[in-house]
Amino acid sequence: METRELANLIFPEVKDISYYEEKYKMRDLPEGAVVTRFAPSPTGFVHIGGLYQSLVAKKQASQTGGVFFLRVEDTDQKREVENGVVGIINALKDYGIEPDEGMIDEENFVGEYGPYKQSMRKEIYQAYAKSLLEKGLAYPCFCTSEELDQIRSNQEKAKERTGYYGKWTKCRNMPIDMMAEKIQNGERYIIRLKSPGNPEKKIKHKDVIKGGVDMPENDQDIVIIKSDGLPTYHFAHSVDDHLMGTNLVIRGDEWLPSVPLHLQLFYMLGFKAPKYAHIAPLMKTEAEGKRKLSKRKDPEAAVSYYKEEGIPKQSVKEYLMNIANSNFEMWRKQNPDKALEEFAFDLKKMGVSGALFDMTKMLDVSKNVISKYTAAEIYEEAYAWAEEYDAELCELLKNKEYSMKVLGIERGNSKPRKDIAKWSDLKETIRYMYQLDKENTNFEYQKITDQEEIQKIVTLYFEKYYDENDDKQTWFDKMKDLAQALGYAREVKEYKANPENYKGHVGDISTVIRVTLTGRCQTPDLYEIMQVIRKRRNFEKNIEESNGI
Ligand code: GLU
Repeated sequence: METRELANLIFPEVKDISYYEEKYKMRDLPEGAVVTRFAPSPTGFVHIGGLYQSLVAKKQASQTGGVFFLRVEDTDQKREVENGVVGIINALKDYGIEPDEGMIDEENFVGEYGPYKQSMRKEIYQAYAKSLLEKGLAYPCFCTSEELDQIRSNQEKAKERTGYYGKWTKCRNMPIDMMAEKIQNGERYIIRLKSPGNPEKKIKHKDVIKGGVDMPENDQDIVIIKSDGLPTYHFAHSVDDHLMGTNLVIRGDEWLPSVPLHLQLFYMLGFKAPKYAHIAPLMKTEAEGKRKLSKRKDPEAAVSYYKEEGIPKQSVKEYLMNIANSNFEMWRKQNPDKALEEFAFDLKKMGVSGALFDMTKMLDVSKNVISKYTAAEIYEEAYAWAEEYDAELCELLKNKEYSMKVLGIERGNSKPRKDIAKWSDLKETIRYMYQLDKENTNFEYQKITDQEEIQKIVTLYFEKYYDENDDKQTWFDKMKDLAQALGYAREVKEYKANPENYKGHVGDISTVIRVTLTGRCQTPDLYEIMQVIRKRRNFEKNIEESNGI
């Protein structure tokens, strides 16, 4: 029997590969256009690292006038969960990282190179596996798991590399007739690649991110089609990325060691290999060292975490871009108002080793991002978040007109407030603008703590000095007048020069007013705060209530 007949026996129904080669035309794109993809497995968990990869891939494609597509890699059906595909699609959509082509729900896709879900492409892989079988470049393997265990233990005993290769293979050189007979007898089998590699020889790989990496050639007769008829990741990768016209594979660097195998597969299938860019994982510091951000241990590894915490998408994207290209931070400083899309991202500038993913830094970036929001933008996003996650905040924000004023404090000027990093912080940041914490009568008054003195300051201020129609300068001058009237210095400088002459200074006085009104000694601009709450609140009544004066 010939290999061709064996191939026919195994895959009698499949089409000739010429059909697919014809069907999926070469992409007609400008010179230098990058065709790349995000190829996750639908495990139900969208890792922040996946978003990071997609952001980078989409940016690379759009910057070059290329294509970014989403391919669902669901050949490991044990790991699959229901709605896993939709979860990924929604996460990308949520973050505005929409693919140009790919699955749009569990079954449907857009684009000329689909289906973009591997379980829907079974016959395509089989056609290519058949072509390898025909040429004698692949073969059926009948080894049982016991036999494979035996091979492994023999290898361990002999202190040799484990795997199915060279002299350890059992089925590689089995006569074709015997193979055919076993198949006809209904024996279970898988299809393996007949690797021509020699590990004594090195392949020279030039990675777009990692640079030159030399690795031994692959000699493992890896499985290409499993017993369920579906391909392995390796085989599907070469077939799909060939037919889909990918010219740059951007993926996690856990796949770097597979490059020799992948190049071999492309070569054996007669395909032009794509370029590869292997991205280092996001890391977290722990104790002395660093480790990968873990799905199990770190809540921030899940894309859903950011939504739950109310961290704006823009903040997450900005921070990820910060990690991707270290010059982004400087660019952002120089171009505070430009859209992220305008940044000239450079794949080559990505770090070779694991990038630190630091939540504190992320929140700092977010404070900056939010500082540029208008009050209306904050209101809209925060309200939508609160509706889902925080009933109390939702209640506060219900009074839209007033809330817009609250959110407008120290905003829209050249030095906007930067104290909000996420919507889940917002309630605490603005609550005092709605109600004082009545339980807490123990405010930190800082320097002036004597209750009688406090009462005197507050009463006098509201009786004689405060006028809601004053402009900021007049308002502050009056605060100084009050200070002076009560034996405090009008200016901090004066006080510092002669502390023995004063009870304190104007700052101590304004702190008393600030704390009385807000319960805090750190707030945004007090004048603005008073402008906002003046109409809503009878100050003196509030003071009485909160201080028991
Ligand atoms: N399905 C693979 C993964 O989940 C994709 C790797 C690739 O992008 O080729 O890691």
